[in-house]
Amino acid sequence: MENITVLGSTGSIGRSTLDVVRRNSDRFRVFALGAGSNVEQMFADVMEFKPDFAVLSDESASSRLKDLLAGSNSVTKILSGYDQLSFIASHESCDSVMAAIVGAAGLIPALAAVRAGKKLYLANKESLVMTGHLFIMALKESGSRILPVDSEHNAIFQSLPETEQLRLGFCSMRDAGVSRILLTGSGGPFRQLPLDRLASVTPEEAVAHPTWNMGSKISVDSSTMMNKGFEFIEAKWLFNLNNDDIQVVIHPQSVIHSMVQYRDGSVIAQMGNPDMRTPIARVMAYPDRIDSGVGSLDFFALSGLSFFEPDYSRYPCLKLAIDSCWAGQAATTALNAANEVAVAAFLNHEVSYPRIYEICSRTVERHSADTIVDVESVLELDRRARETASALL
Ligand code: NDP
Repeated sequence: MENITVLGSTGSIGRSTLDVVRRNSDRFRVFALGAGSNVEQMFADVMEFKPDFAVLSDESASSRLKDLLAGSNSVTKILSGYDQLSFIASHESCDSVMAAIVGAAGLIPALAAVRAGKKLYLANKESLVMTGHLFIMALKESGSRILPVDSEHNAIFQSLPETEQLRLGFCSMRDAGVSRILLTGSGGPFRQLPLDRLASVTPEEAVAHPTWNMGSKISVDSSTMMNKGFEFIEAKWLFNLNNDDIQVVIHPQSVIHSMVQYRDGSVIAQMGNPDMRTPIARVMAYPDRIDSGVGSLDFFALSGLSFFEPDYSRYPCLKLAIDSCWAGQAATTALNAANEVAVAAFLNHEVSYPRIYEICSRTVERHSADTIVDVESVLELDRRARETASALL
């Protein structure tokens, strides 16, 4: 029985993870749940999964949860505050951690799990965008294992030979005979919108993703393709890639989740319905296959598969993220911080859609030469970049 801690349990990935656990209760037990402030969802999950611990980082939400549970026969210990997320991620009784807190807030608990040698199921791509090399070195030092949840990285993982699957962070594309990683993305809801309409798109339009059902921040990131840019950076670190090893391909149907092209001309792709329970089940059961609740892909119902090169005038955030990837760690840390500030402001109707790019690019410009030596300096740069981005708002 694997004791799993689910960080970000009340969110989209968290709920999908709990559904996979529900379907495979002979293999997995929820050891702990961690989230921010969603008391009602946490209450329901505590009652159903009976974890040893439940943490809400928001202290007043945590007191409300305690009040709600007071009249029940629950024996779950309720903890409050951000630091307790690291406690449940590194607890000696936990075997594995699903890292699915959104944004920079996900970094420290994910690192705590890595440092404690836990098996890490990584959904929080921001951890690698913010700390890249430092995160990979922490993996090496602790001997912890990382398995990618993001559907594209999971697809690449599944399409690589086992030798590389077992050494994520230190793969060799040359040894594996890989000529190129093809990172696919749907292009989001504005793929065909006339360019002059982009200035007036609303948050409601931006979160309406055509093929995936996700949290609001990642949905906006998908519409700008900043998400694909972050995935590009995540792929560089997970698969140890160089500049020419990877290419972004727009594939609107989201049926192929990414591909690996080999030296001999073969291309191996992972396909399936767009439902995150597939990659979640893949990492949780690896190397086995378990029921995820996702139906079989119906090839006769597909209307066709199409592929396009990304147009950077439509997706300047993608180009900015790719350039930042090769510019160095400070650039991607600053980019992540600026993007969180700009996307939150856009979702609050405080800035227009094109200003997300403008705020990000000006923040990266200002901070890309800053120095990063350790996680503390990453957090310091994250703070300074947020200040810069907020001032630009
Ligand atoms: P959601 O917005 O749906 O959920 C976010 C989760 O993070 C919630 O449980 C939320 O808790 C929690 N959270 C936010 N801030 C804090 C905090 N300060 N302390 C503790 N918990 C916090 O996001 P998604 O599930 O969509 O995404 C989660 C991560 O997975 C992201 O990094 C995303 O990039 C990645 N990902 C998501 C995919 C998807 O399909 N959704 C696909 C691939 C990757 P609460 O709501 O209780 O406040």
